[in-house]
Amino acid sequence: MHRKIISKIKKSLYAVPFKDDIQHTRHKANGGKGKKDVLIHNIPFLFTCDETEKLRCFQNYSIAISNGIIQEVIPAKKAKLQNFSLVYEAGLRGGIVVTPGLINAHAHPPMYLMRSAMMLDEGESIDETIASMPNWERAMSDEDYTFSAIGDITEQQKAGITTTLSHFAVYWPIEIATRATKHNMINAVSVASNTHPENSPALIKELIAKKDEPCASQLAIALHYVHRANAKIFKEIKNLSEKNNLLFTCHMAESAKVEKKCVALHGKREVELLERHGLLTNRTVVSHSIYVTEGEIKKMVENNVGVVHLPTSNVIHKSGTFPLWKFIDAAGKSYVALGTDGVVSKSRLDLLSEAYQTRITHLYDRTVKFGSLFKMMTLNGARTLNMPDRGRILPGMRADLAFWKLKDRGFIPFDQKNPMTLLGNLITHGGRAVRDLMINGEFVVKSRRHTKVNESKLLMVLQKKHMAMRKRVAGKQKKSKR
Ligand SMILES: [Zn+2]
Repeated sequence: MHRKIISKIKKSLYAVPFKDDIQHTRHKANGGKGKKDVLIHNIPFLFTCDETEKLRCFQNYSIAISNGIIQEVIPAKKAKLQNFSLVYEAGLRGGIVVTPGLINAHAHPPMYLMRSAMMLDEGESIDETIASMPNWERAMSDEDYTFSAIGDITEQQKAGITTTLSHFAVYWPIEIATRATKHNMINAVSVASNTHPENSPALIKELIAKKDEPCASQLAIALHYVHRANAKIFKEIKNLSEKNNLLFTCHMAESAKVEKKCVALHGKREVELLERHGLLTNRTVVSHSIYVTEGEIKKMVENNVGVVHLPTSNVIHKSGTFPLWKFIDAAGKSYVALGTDGVVSKSRLDLLSEAYQTRITHLYDRTVKFGSLFKMMTLNGARTLNMPDRGRILPGMRADLAFWKLKDRGFIPFDQKNPMTLLGNLITHGGRAVRDLMINGEFVVKSRRHTKVNESKLLMVLQKKHMAMRKRVAGKQKKSKR
């Protein structure tokens, strides 16, 4: 089945490849010599956290990359250009600001086709949305999910995101979309799903056993809500996660209704339930976590549970306010990562506007500094998803880089004597498209164009599929009214 979808995507969406790197006006082919080494040269402003997790801004530096790994980060004058087959001139025409690729710790890429479908501004709550969502999800085929995910991921990439945790009930659509987009993806599959009742921990076992084709995405286990599982499922999740070192993710304490439902069904609160089943570990990533007590926060922090904050989603669904400061105070350091959620919760799939939303949401308590917001999108995201080789620009790290044009709206003017003002501009302006994007040492976006997917064709396909889906949902609603 999934092979059919792959060949359809190849026919309809693959981009006409750039003939060679010289087409990019900042790229210089440098003699070749059969090497695949890349030098990002003469970067006017490079932002990253260093080995001690301190935020730094390096000026006029160069990054040497080999086989997708960062080898050196050195002053530009020390770089030996002749050693590289490709040199990216980051200092030309006003220059480029380089940051680590951003990390989106919670998303639902197969829902992309539902953009505009949920009418959240008409006053639905999270509970009403959750109730109507299956009607839309059931109206989608695996092919729809796949094209949806490609639409979602490519949009994230254009906003500087290089790593995403996808939480959904299907595996193959995300896997195929990951291959098509070259994204760095955690593919968390639900083991107890309303829309996919056939899902169970056995599905994860099958996917682990499958060895006939290499995987582009990293398998993980998901539960939509904690209360959906029973003791047997929890036990299997724990065993699978431990034996295979798989991440486990769930929405947690997202609304007052969910909080109560868990107690009614299990006689325990969500954190207690996870603890009882041995799932309060550093392999667990929870999103939302709004209705949690100080004692529960302490336990989550002590056990290094990953926590994802989704301020836009929480406001749109009238879910409540995440206790950010309680988490940060309990952890004693920057702790929380950020996520976009799906398009029905935050239509704009970027993290910069989510960082700004975080700042505004918690402003009445204390100001979340721009440096802390930057950490949430990079270092904390990598920690939350157990990816120590991503989220920073240091030797030995994966070459996931976002390139932002400096001479652009939003960046200018800034204080040249205090380049950290650039970070403030990046976040408050929010959601700008990257000029270039590198994932694992490969340019996925060049000169604002996606190099792997033909976006023009993609948008046409998505619009057609969206209208077909609306027709199916309307047909079903008519039938049920009769
Ligand atoms: Zn979600």
